[in-house]
Amino acid sequence: MAARYDAVVVGAGPAGLMAARKIAKRGFTVLMLEKDRDFGVRTCAEAVSETAFKTAEIPVTQSLISNTVEGALVFPPNESKGVRIAGEHYRGYILNKPLFLSALAKEAVAAGADLQMRSEVKAITMDGGNATKITYEQKGELKDAEFKVLVGADGVGSIVAKSCGFDLSGYALIPTMQYVMVNCNVPEGHMIRIYMGREVAPLGYAWVFSKNEFMANVGIGVRGRPAKPYLDKFIASHPEFFGKAKAVKEGGGGVPCGGQIREVVRSNVVLCGDSAGQVIPITGGGIRTSMAAGSVSGDFVAKALEAGDMSAMSGYPSSYSDYWGSRISKSLKVLRAIEEMSDDDLNTLGSVLSGEDVVDLANGLDFKRVASKLMMHPVLAMKLASKLI
Ligand SMILES: Cc1cc2nc3c(=O)[nH]c(=O)nc-3n(C[C@H](O)[C@H](O)[C@H](O)COP(=O)(O)OP(=O)(O)OC[C@H]3O[C@@H](n4cnc5c(N)ncnc54)[C@H](O)[C@@H]3O)c2cc1C
Repeated sequence: MAARYDAVVVGAGPAGLMAARKIAKRGFTVLMLEKDRDFGVRTCAEAVSETAFKTAEIPVTQSLISNTVEGALVFPPNESKGVRIAGEHYRGYILNKPLFLSALAKEAVAAGADLQMRSEVKAITMDGGNATKITYEQKGELKDAEFKVLVGADGVGSIVAKSCGFDLSGYALIPTMQYVMVNCNVPEGHMIRIYMGREVAPLGYAWVFSKNEFMANVGIGVRGRPAKPYLDKFIASHPEFFGKAKAVKEGGGGVPCGGQIREVVRSNVVLCGDSAGQVIPITGGGIRTSMAAGSVSGDFVAKALEAGDMSAMSGYPSSYSDYWGSRISKSLKVLRAIEEMSDDDLNTLGSVLSGEDVVDLANGLDFKRVASKLMMHPVLAMKLASKLI
């Protein structure tokens, strides 16, 4: 006979671990299934703002981070004129993501969630529009579990989204490739470095995030072409950083940069995190947005279970959209506008905008102030500002 739970959460990433914790904390039974044997196997550059720990509702401890970040250096195609972004609002961390996720897992398990690793969901049974049962493989054995609510926090390629009929028409992935490199010689190790331009990373960007004084996450996201050749070219063109360095780990994956999908709740199923496209499109930052989505969706799932009424979950999208949904859609607008700009435009943009402007644009924050500043520059006003207001 199938085991029965109030909720099943698929995926132990930032989104699922938050959702499972929130639901279990309210006294409901939660089965959490993760296909990998370890946390944080998926490639990630691991950068978060300081506020990510607030969203995670755990204290910052040395063991959970590799490095502190004091700001960013953003390089337009003309690399000599980098925009420096620093100050208390721009501090953050390069996480030790596997350990960070294990700290989130500790909270979920302490709240009562039944976390099972090496358990891959293979099929979802639907009955009259409701999801009723999942079938998962654990150590070569197929098992079933029944539930009242299903949470799809299973990231890119979500089986929950596909099997439960979610509309994925706006879902778009940017391919990425990243190396973890040792013996790097990157100056200002507490500043993250971002490189833009059609030659460097067509419709994307390259990043260098130092983990410590000799080790860095070096990666690239590009649109519509394979990322690896661009990453190799970027590394070869920076012998001052990487001339004696060696890639010790490589990985990649798609980052959902097409904005949040139209519906994130369907009858008794909710999606959160990458599975729902809840990523800041221009930066590809999804750790904090996904944790926030897991947290908000988990609260609404618990409300629905308390009320015995699944329609209570419909509050999740609007609650999430008040802050995060709006930031995601504004950042998507900027991405679309920047995609149409030439390298010369990007160079001009780099000289017109301050560091604060760049961050606000990328994150979909204080949009009007930056756009009106651009209006004072006739060429950029035509190409960018008019699309933002
Ligand atoms: C190269 C790269 C660099 C990035 N850098 C950053 C960064 O610096 N900062 C940032 O904020 N974001 C970054 N991101 C994005 C960030 O990693 C994601 O947005 C975030 O991890 C999403 O969290 P999630 O919980 O929704 O999904 P995921 O982290 O993908 O977790 C989903 C989990 O579900 C599991 N799963 C999937 N299918 C099944 C199944 N059928 N059964 C059971 N389990 C399943 C997976 O194994 C995985 O553990 C980066 C992404 C990439 C690809």
